Amino acid sequence: MTKKRVAVIGSGASGLTCIKCCLEEGLEPVCFERSDDIGGLWRFQENPEEGRASIYRSVIINTSKEMMCFSDYPIPDHFPNFMHNSQVLEYFRMYAKEFDLVKYIQFKTTVCSVKKRPDFSTSGQWEVVTECKGKKQVDVFDAVMVCTGHHTDAHLPLESFPVTALSQPPTINDELPNRIISGMVKVKGNVKAFTETAAIFEDGSKEEDIDAVIFATGYSFAFPFLDDSVKVVKNKVSLYKKVFPPNLEKPTLAIIGLIQPLGAIMPISEIQGRWATQVFK
Ligand SMILES: Cc1cc2nc3c(=O)[nH]c(=O)nc-3n(C[C@H](O)[C@H](O)[C@H](O)COP(=O)(O)OP(=O)(O)OC[C@H]3O[C@@H](n4cnc5c(N)ncnc54)[C@H](O)[C@@H]3O)c2cc1C
Repeated sequence: MTKKRVAVIGSGASGLTCIKCCLEEGLEPVCFERSDDIGGLWRFQENPEEGRASIYRSVIINTSKEMMCFSDYPIPDHFPNFMHNSQVLEYFRMYAKEFDLVKYIQFKTTVCSVKKRPDFSTSGQWEVVTECKGKKQVDVFDAVMVCTGHHTDAHLPLESFPVTALSQPPTINDELPNRIISGMVKVKGNVKAFTETAAIFEDGSKEEDIDAVIFATGYSFAFPFLDDSVKVVKNKVSLYKKVFPPNLEKPTLAIIGLIQPLGAIMPISEIQGRWATQVFK
């Protein structure tokens, strides 16, 4: 029997573990990665390629290495519990090498569109258009795993002050309470508007002579290559158990890693990948 072919889009932490999950279920993965390397946003670059996010130079994980590793490949003992981003990338390289994952990845290949085949209601198949060095290619796949991350496009609510969209999940920095308690950081209410040099707050107060504004307003996400199988409305998407679009006739499309857990994303992407590949199989 011919193996079912699965398109894995993206070779960050989620994409890597999905390739491995496909192999474990006897499926044939083909991973498309628009950049020229693995690791997704953990590969630091001052100016990352278009469509890829990058952590900033000094990032240290805020989830411990024990919480962050994949289930069957512990992070080495000599790595610190809270690793620098370069060690996270090193770990992903070790993982990819251990399970021989890189040979399934087509680098510098962008997925442009993923559309249902005309016989989708019976076959569940997808037509995937990719572009590599200006050349387009069309392939048919039995299933698709979307592993494109959700920390690429900054969410800048410039047009929507007051900033009511901040229902974004907070990132808590251990330093902050100390800075607030010592008066070094002032906490204010919602911003109503900016002028060229000042911020005006909803309570009517004004902060003058502002040199810089840092937006800590999170990210927006989208799936520009997908047909209308997945609709993102106000930065939210409806997915069965956060993986499967519920409106498809066949469960052959899985969104992996689109989660904002209290812990780490990696083991969750892994378990999602395992479940999705078992459903595909
Ligand atoms: C500053 C910062 C700190 C963080 N710290 C932590 C932490 O401590 N612990 C934790 O668990 N998580 C942390 N995260 C969350 C982080 O998103 C996850 O750790 C993880 O990187 C998600 O992996 P991913 O593979 O889902 O996405 P990504 O790493 O974003 O990878 C997506 C990949 O898809 C590729 N791609 C995108 N579109 C296409 C396309 N159309 N065709 C082909 N390829 C495509 C991109 O090039 C990229 O390689 C942090 C995030 C940020 C921004």
